[in-house]
Formats: sequence, structure tokens, C-alpha cells
Amino acid sequence: MAKRASVHLIATGGTIAGVADDVNAPQHYAAGVLTAEQLIASVPGLFAVADLTVEQLYNLDSRDMTPEHWRGLARAVHAALARDDVDGVVVTHGTDTLEESAFYVDLVTQSPKPVVFTGAMRPANAPSPDGPMNLLDAVTVAASPKARGLGVLAVLHQRIHAARDVTKSSPDRLDAFSSGEGGVVGRTSPIQIFRAVVPREKALPVAPDGPLPRVDVLLIGAGSAPDMLEAAREKGARGVVLALPGNASMPEAWRHSVIAAAGGGVTTVLVARSGKTLPPKPGQEILPALVSALPPAKARVALLAALGAESDAEFWLYV
Ligand code: ASP
Repeated sequence: MAKRASVHLIATGGTIAGVADDVNAPQHYAAGVLTAEQLIASVPGLFAVADLTVEQLYNLDSRDMTPEHWRGLARAVHAALARDDVDGVVVTHGTDTLEESAFYVDLVTQSPKPVVFTGAMRPANAPSPDGPMNLLDAVTVAASPKARGLGVLAVLHQRIHAARDVTKSSPDRLDAFSSGEGGVVGRTSPIQIFRAVVPREKALPVAPDGPLPRVDVLLIGAGSAPDMLEAAREKGARGVVLALPGNASMPEAWRHSVIAAAGGGVTTVLVARSGKTLPPKPGQEILPALVSALPPAKARVALLAALGAESDAEFWLYV
């Protein structure tokens, strides 16, 4: 008989652990209330899928997550992955910044064992909550040999997404996550994998203890003032992502500020605010700035992770 899979669940809060005061008005609720034990007790079917161990790392609304939380989460994930008795890891997380935490953990993790983030759009006591199904699916994926070697994943609304691509694209739909042109990796119930995820040749080290670098994102529209970049530098930013119109098209008025930022030791990264950037245009290459194909929030994660680990930013912005 095949060995039963073991999954370690790390709970960090979010709507999946949220509770509404009035079940008839589930849109008004507090995130991060229920404990990890309460979450798994509400889905008895989980125990048919895998043996479970649980850990309450945080209990936060994910709008309050910080890069320091990402670092702590990555360490907790690595500790679980290092255990011989753990086949996969599930992280429950608020949906608002799930894509950032998942991508940070993805950048710093190299393990064939599945690491699966999940969350919910409705609080746990809503009339028809989505959390229990998402949790069951996430544990099923984390326990499955089919999910090995795919990097960090997010499982929501019966879809399996790669951490690199997943974005919360709706504030209210149950089907709130999408994976852009790359498309989803697969689906659940039953698990089907539609495409391979090309493994990265290396992982970043988790940032050591101590302050993490400040990295800001500036959204640039027609006529936006370039002194925002000076302000970020004066406030101590070591990296700035410029989310630009079109194909990361930088207005001429910003050229001087980008050159001055580089002179002041700030790494500037140009991305398209739409989330899709094509390779650099000839005129852009002579700027002392990097161009990334990542969407703005993910470029910030990659730059912060690279600067925090004193690694080559350019490599991580192209992952
Ligand atoms: N604000 C919540 C959070 O991100 C939203 C959710 O989990 O769906 O924690």
C-alpha cells in the first residue's frame, strides 16, 4: 500500500481565517481570526487526503504583511521542507498580497516538494464560504506527486497557478486570480497539470537578519513629476521600480532623474504598468536602469529579495 502523504500547514491569516459579526452581511468581517486548528477542523475531508501538522506563524490581514514577514515565512517553509516526514507544505494567506509572499518564497526556495499557497474571498462563516474547498484542494495538490518540481504554487477556485505569474485581478469575484498570458499551470478536482514550469537554475538566499532594503514602486502617468524619484532616494530607497505606460516607455522628462538615481546608488527598474514588458528598446538600453518583464509588484519583490541578499538584481528581474 502506498505511504500516506504528510502535509505541513502554515497559517498566516487572511479572509480564509476571517469571521463576520453578522453572517448575513459577510462583506463586513475581520481577517485573521480563526486559528490553524480551527481551519482544519472545519474541513474533515482533509484527513482523508494526508496526515497534517499545523503551525500558526501569523494571523494577519495580508495588507499588513511586510518583507520581514516574507523572510520569516520563507524560513518556516524551509524548516518544514527539510523534514523527512513532510511531503508538501500549504500556506494559508490573505488574498490581497498572496502573490507577493508566494513569489518571495518561490525566489528563495529550491525543493521538488510542493509548496502551495491558498486563501479565500469569503470569510469562514459566510453562507457559502470558498475557503474550505480551497484548503482541501491546496492540501490535495501539496500531497500529490504530480505537483512536485513545479516551484511555489497558488491554488484558488480550482485553478493551480505558478507563483511567478499569479495575480489577484478582481477584488470581489470568487474567481479572483489569473495568470496572464502564461496561463494557469493546471486545475484541481481532479488534478490536471496543463504545462511545465521551467525550474530556475538557482535560488536566492533568504535575506539575513537586519533591516531589509527599501524598494518603492512609482506609477508613472502622462506628465508625472520626476522628482518622485529624488524623493524616494532621499527617503532611503535602494531600489525603485518605475511602472510605466506602454512597453515600459519612460518619458524624456525622467531621464535626468534616472541618471542621478544611479549616481546615488539607487537601482532603477523599468516595467510596464500593464504587467507585460517586451525586451528593451534600443533607446532604453543606454539608461543606467534595468528592464524587467515582471509586473510592478513582482518586480519590487524580486528587486527587494536580490538587494536584501546582495545578489545580482538583473538575474532575478528576468526570472
Ligand atoms: N484583506 C484580506 C487579506 O488579504 C483579503 C483576503 O484575504 O481575501 O488578508
